[in-house]
Amino acid sequence: MIFHMNWNPWVAGRLTVPKTLGKVYKVKNKNIMVDPEIDFFSYDLDSKWRTKALLIMTQNPQNNYFIPTKYPGNILYDFLKPHIWVGVKLNKNNQLALLSYDNIMPKNEKRWLYLKNYRDPIYNSELFSCTGKEHLSKGYFWKYAYPCSTCDGMGIINKYKLNWIVLSGHKSGVRREVVDDFRINCDNTGIPFYYEKAWIGNKLIRDPQLYGRPCVGKPKQIFD
Ligand SMILES: [Zn+2]
Repeated sequence: MIFHMNWNPWVAGRLTVPKTLGKVYKVKNKNIMVDPEIDFFSYDLDSKWRTKALLIMTQNPQNNYFIPTKYPGNILYDFLKPHIWVGVKLNKNNQLALLSYDNIMPKNEKRWLYLKNYRDPIYNSELFSCTGKEHLSKGYFWKYAYPCSTCDGMGIINKYKLNWIVLSGHKSGVRREVVDDFRINCDNTGIPFYYEKAWIGNKLIRDPQLYGRPCVGKPKQIFD
């Protein structure tokens, strides 16, 4: 289990920071994930609440904090420290475009994606597809191309310079082929890949196995 603790700030229908996140003073060397259901940088959330939570995180660098968000444009960069990992929570492919604008994630060199219940096939996904012009025939159809000025010819690249991909399953299921595709593409591009959880039968399984072993790839800076 790579995320040791999950921080859910909702208590009895209200967002409460110090009470629930306060525990971090007592723990050390933990990877703490902000519940992906709470979109930390959402326009709907009170900014005072957010500032308070970020302050607690910055004052407790003995742990790592992971904040997936659908709103990378709202990230408060001044608060980002090496132990605070803000990642993009991706629901649809079109959000990938956000990653390609340098002004969106300029200071966050820790680029990671949190994919929950991701359903789209990733064959030729923008995430890994080389868009070098050598791959286009008749200016339209994508094909393998060797040589290519951008990739090794197979057309698979780490286009958005991602440092990590985390895939999380959901009750309604992520197809096995999708998980497998991510694993293969991450292998080919050298991106650490973590398959966090899956619903199997009616049970939530953490670190589910794929071909007899869990996929627990992680960047070096993260605690064991
Ligand atoms: Zn290429």
